[in-house]
Amino acid sequence: MNRTVRIAAALALAAAAGIFLWNTMCAGAAQNVRIIKHDEQKAAPVSPDNFTGAAASRGFFPAKEIGVSTGEVTFPAGARTAWHTHPRGQMLIITSGRGLVRQWGEAPVEMNEGDAVWIPANVKHWHGAAPDSSMSHIAMAPLDEEGRSSTWMEKTSGADYPGK
Ligand code: MN
Repeated sequence: MNRTVRIAAALALAAAAGIFLWNTMCAGAAQNVRIIKHDEQKAAPVSPDNFTGAAASRGFFPAKEIGVSTGEVTFPAGARTAWHTHPRGQMLIITSGRGLVRQWGEAPVEMNEGDAVWIPANVKHWHGAAPDSSMSHIAMAPLDEEGRSSTWMEKTSGADYPGK
């Protein structure tokens, strides 16, 4: 090999090595699709400070990892959250039963299986089961810059909840 051919071969080899290294680095940085099978998801009681009644929450992915607080919350009849707000809003999808959502200053609104509900940022509200029916919903609330998805306030009382 003459000198020009040797230099060309060295450059080609360096380029190939560079491409290989780049691809390896990109593959290492790639995010993988994740799945948590239904029977691997754990339900846990919710904080009694923020709920009335024995609701339980089945978490999906850690909120700090995906930037969104997610979970399916199951409320026995009569159970509901305390008043609260979400800094980036919240979507609810009713997965079973019949429930209620109430915005501060407004009447309660019924929610049924399959319904989707959007609660805008910083709107004070509560949600939960109807007095005579259990209810489950999937809840999704994006985290703010401080990693918070909810600001909890006083529990419902008196005329806040129908029939109580
Ligand atoms: Mn909420």
